[in-house]
Amino acid sequence: MLAQHPRGLYLLFATEMWERFSYYGNRALLALFMISALSFDKQFTAALYGQYTGLVYLSPLVGGYIADRFWGNRRSIMVGGLLMAAGQFALFFAGSVYQNLQLAVPLFYCGLGLIIAGNGFFKPNISSMVGQLYHAGDARKDAAYTIFYMGINLGSFLAPLVCGTLGDTGNPADFRWGFLAAGVGMLVSLLVFGSLQQRYLHTPDGTAIGLPPRRLSAEEKRQVDQSLTTIDLDRMLVIGVLSFFVIFFWSAFEQAGVSLTFLASESTDRTIFGWTMPTSWFQSLNPVFVLLFAPVLAQLWGSLARREREPASPTKMAIGLLLLSAGFLVIALGVRQIGDGVKMSMLWLVAMYWLHTLGELCLSPIGLSLVNKLAPVRFASLLMAVWFLANAAANWFAGILAGFYPEAGRPLPVFMGWQISNLADFFTLFVVMAFVAGAVLLLLTGVLQKRMHGVR
Ligand code: GLN
Repeated sequence: MLAQHPRGLYLLFATEMWERFSYYGNRALLALFMISALSFDKQFTAALYGQYTGLVYLSPLVGGYIADRFWGNRRSIMVGGLLMAAGQFALFFAGSVYQNLQLAVPLFYCGLGLIIAGNGFFKPNISSMVGQLYHAGDARKDAAYTIFYMGINLGSFLAPLVCGTLGDTGNPADFRWGFLAAGVGMLVSLLVFGSLQQRYLHTPDGTAIGLPPRRLSAEEKRQVDQSLTTIDLDRMLVIGVLSFFVIFFWSAFEQAGVSLTFLASESTDRTIFGWTMPTSWFQSLNPVFVLLFAPVLAQLWGSLARREREPASPTKMAIGLLLLSAGFLVIALGVRQIGDGVKMSMLWLVAMYWLHTLGELCLSPIGLSLVNKLAPVRFASLLMAVWFLANAAANWFAGILAGFYPEAGRPLPVFMGWQISNLADFFTLFVVMAFVAGAVLLLLTGVLQKRMHGVR
């Protein structure tokens, strides 16, 4: 799988790895920081966290548009990275003065704002550059995105281990060291990208990629505006429909940072041989599983392809949703162990994260690659942003759903007329949601494939 890919892929791999290190390092601490340093309550924390992770994926619409129209990918990535680094350092300062809430809270919001803006420029552009390293129709694109996805997850794996260990010590004064490490990670990403981009970012025939679009003459502009064919429109429609289904995936998957973190921190037995594992370390399970199982799935798809039985991309995504549903089923069963003074074994969470990761691998790298294949070149980054828009909606929704987490001493939450009286009820919500979305998508795959006009 690793052989015969352009060097540019490994540059994008390293850049994105450090950027994700920064993003996830910060994210592993965020909810804990809000609760234990800033004294926000759980409902407010869950909602704010949802809004933040939602906006992080909304801003790519602006970043994608500006890149396709004016700046090109490279400059957008540099600007985005600088903004994100500034945001992490603002959080470092917020963590340094956490006892003075009047100063810490505004600094905290300012940091989040900078990261939101920065991600908008960074994420859609780096993601769309991966596919541009290859010619249209190059069969290596799926593998390229899978390798890139491993880079993402190498960063996300190291992040909670480093930033979580430095920041989540039980002493609120230490959060800042986690944020500082996240800021340094972002600077490493910028350094790698800034110094090597000239050399390695080009197509197989040597044409540089990611530069600002050429200015068109009036005549050229007219031609370009007319050239969206029905095929283009059909394919863009497919991107829209799939992005909609993906909302249900991420809004359940992203419980990792909220309700599943509450579960891990309060109701899970985290001791092994007398040592207690920090809650934030659970955030590393997903990336570890990605690193271990991405090659396995790539092999599987490859061997199915040789027998001409490889499922098309929309089918893989539907399978992803069903696996996610199965993961929540495991946890809905596991929480039944919890009682007075009895905590749940952490093996339930491990099994759940494994199933969630298999689902993610069926849906996420496949989706990135598919968007690249379906999008007309001049809207490549903007349509990548549409794909991430599903994450925006999903993260916002995830925050709302997490608000239904039942807690002692609070009236029982009611979801669409259904009283959530315990944790098992709460997690069953996600079993049902992901299952229904997966089943409906499975029914639609035929129609979608027709509209993809030959792309798989
Ligand atoms: N973990 C992946 C990333 O950070 C996917 C996240 C997402 O699309 N929600 O890129």
